[in-house]
Amino acid sequence: MTMPDVDRVAASRAAVAARRARAAIKASLARGERTASDVFLVARIDADSVEASLRVTDFLLNVPALGEKKVSALMTTLGISPRKRLGALGRRQRDALQDFLETRARARGERTRPRVVVLAGPTAVGKGTVVSRILSDYPEVHMSVSATTRAPRPGEVDGVNYFFVSPEEFDRLIDDDELLEWAVVHGTHRYGTPRGPIEQSLRDGVCVLLEIDIQGARQVKAHMPSARTVFLEPPSWEELSRRLESRGTEHIDERMRRLETAREELAARLEFDVRVVNDDVTRAAAQVVDLMGLTKEH
Ligand code: 5GP
Repeated sequence: MTMPDVDRVAASRAAVAARRARAAIKASLARGERTASDVFLVARIDADSVEASLRVTDFLLNVPALGEKKVSALMTTLGISPRKRLGALGRRQRDALQDFLETRARARGERTRPRVVVLAGPTAVGKGTVVSRILSDYPEVHMSVSATTRAPRPGEVDGVNYFFVSPEEFDRLIDDDELLEWAVVHGTHRYGTPRGPIEQSLRDGVCVLLEIDIQGARQVKAHMPSARTVFLEPPSWEELSRRLESRGTEHIDERMRRLETAREELAARLEFDVRVVNDDVTRAAAQVVDLMGLTKEH
């Protein structure tokens, strides 16, 4: 059977886009804007990422100071065939390549951890649970506390869960450029990330975790390309609706609005650097932690 013309055009457009995306990653590696460990980390965690579709040889040849000879010797040592893609490596090959990259990064004094990680995802996907797990296991992470114009829910504490501010105070924060990003979420209230504490953490060399909506994630990425954006996915759409239904903290209209936002957010998942499925909190938290370059010492 031959492919209809329209499909053929779409397929060739997609192939061109994929090649361009791969070329952009290779260029940023070659320019030293992204480290090899960072690109490999994304490939390992997300099999659908552009990073995972890079051929191992192309990837290594674009790592600064790795020449053809070294790469070919390395591929032989690791037992990796030249046409293999990063996302298709077996576990042993993956571990061996990672060991190689980490040892090399340490020897060169490279920073392997992205300092700002933005966690976003549809409402009720369980971002809060994943964040709590990360903070209890890794208290050295700085969790950004957002400002919001919405009222506190029972049990929420000002300055801990959010800075609950009036619309006038929020206007002032915007005017004085005190927010790194801000957005109207679920079509109702405004939420924003205070800039000061994040800049302070970065100066102190501390990892920062932001749990914000997708519009905010876009703005952070635009201002801070080194930030790593993570989309937390529900195991299924049905499961997400069920979680939202059973939460019961919001009125029906509010729930519908949130479901609508969730639908839009799911559609935007491919814009993120990495997608992590939240089917198991421990695993999901470990993957986010991995992306920060924080690994527990045993
Ligand atoms: P909730 O009202 O349930 O606490 O939060 C609603 C949504 O607002 C969540 O999806 C959360 O990610 C988002 N959000 C919280 N803080 C911020 C922020 O500072 N900026 C942006 N853009 N979204 C935020």
